[in-house]
Formats: sequence, C-alpha cells, structure tokens
Amino acid sequence: MEKAETPLQHVQANIAAACRIARREPEEVTLIAVSKMHPAEAIEPLLREGQRHFGENRVQEAQGKWPALREAYPAVQLHLIGQLQSNKAEDAVALFDAIHSLDRPSLVKALGKAMDKSGRRVPCFVQVDVGEEDQKGGCPVAELPALIEQARQADIPLVGLMCLPPQDIEPAPFFAFLDKLARDHGLEGRSMGMSGDYETAIKLGATHVRVGTALFGARPAAG
Ligand SMILES: *Cc1c(COP(=O)(O)O)cnc(C)c1O
Repeated sequence: MEKAETPLQHVQANIAAACRIARREPEEVTLIAVSKMHPAEAIEPLLREGQRHFGENRVQEAQGKWPALREAYPAVQLHLIGQLQSNKAEDAVALFDAIHSLDRPSLVKALGKAMDKSGRRVPCFVQVDVGEEDQKGGCPVAELPALIEQARQADIPLVGLMCLPPQDIEPAPFFAFLDKLARDHGLEGRSMGMSGDYETAIKLGATHVRVGTALFGARPAAG
C-alpha cells in the first residue's frame, strides 16, 4: 500500500509541477515554511522530514521558539517575513538568516548599524508595496530606487524584492510587476507567493515562496 503523502510532499510536488511548466529547475525555488503562531511541536515533524527554511513574522516569537529547535537542527535557516521595528533590528540581525521586510530608510539605518556592530551581514529583500496598501508596509514603488541605493551604501547585502499583493484580487499582475522591478534593479531574488498562489508566483519567477497554511493547517487564533 502506498503511504499517503504529507503536506510537505504535496507542496513540494506542486512546486516541481509549476517549475516543469515554467521550464525552471526546482532548485531555483526555496520553500519557506511559515511557522508563525505554531508551536515547536507543530514544527518538529517538518524538521524531521528535512525542511530547513522557516519563516516567522515576529522577532519576539521567534526568539522564544527557535534557539532550542536550532540546537537540534543546526542547518535551519530562519527568514523574517513580517514588519520590523527599528528598535528590534539588532535582535533580528542576531537571530535571522534573511530579512524579507526591509521597507524604509529608518530601517536601512537601523539594520546597517546592527550589521556593522555584530559583523553579521544578513541578506535582505526590499518589501515593495505593489498594491499601494499602507497597512501592510512595503516601500512605495516610487521610492524604491532611492531605498535600494541607500541600502547598498549602508553595505546591506540586498538579494531581492518581496511583495504581499492585495487579498481577493488576482495576484499574477503583481507578481509579474515585482519580477520586472527586480530585473530593472539587477536583483536575483523574488520573494512572492503564499499558500493560495505559490504556483502562480513560481510561473512568474518566484525564487522564495512563503507557505504557511498549506503546510501547517490553519493558524491557531491569536490569544
Ligand atoms: C503569514 C504569511 C505568509 C503565509 O501565509 P499562508 O497563506 O498561511 O501560506 C506568507 N507571507 C507573509 C508575509 C505572511 O505574513
């Protein structure tokens, strides 16, 4: 009898299928398992299956969960995918292996300083406000060139762009737009696509997909 596939295997198979259609190699796409609000017990099965990239949206929550898990799985790569307050920049640089939410000059300053101080240079994605929705954060498109320049001046390793398109609208045009912006600025990374749309994002050039619900099920309600 065949064993039922796990959610991780299912998502990996979908990624491989999307890559085949797009004539891309699955190795070009990093699956980030978004474990925000899930406890260590929910994360461990994925670690045992071999998943190594994880995403969290809050520094404090990640500080609570990950040091112990990392001791058991030292190859873990942690991605910060949520808005970052400048006063948490040092903590973020100490804990995370990539930051996907660089979105404003004050944060460039804070992260540059934190990286200088620690000597740890953490790869960053600039989050772009592709849907012009203030509440999600993200750099306005018109201010992107200046922010990229500022980050380069501050010696922040910029690896790509990230977006979180508006909900309930077809996301493909936003993914295509982010892909074009990344190309225009000579950046390789495109962090785009979540549980509902990662296959579309891959067909439009995503290098990092951030998938929570499809791997973990629904998130526990906030307390
Ligand atoms: C929560 C979150 C995700 C994952 O969302 P799912 O729909 O659960 O896959 C991806 N990206 C960001 C920025 C998030 O906050």
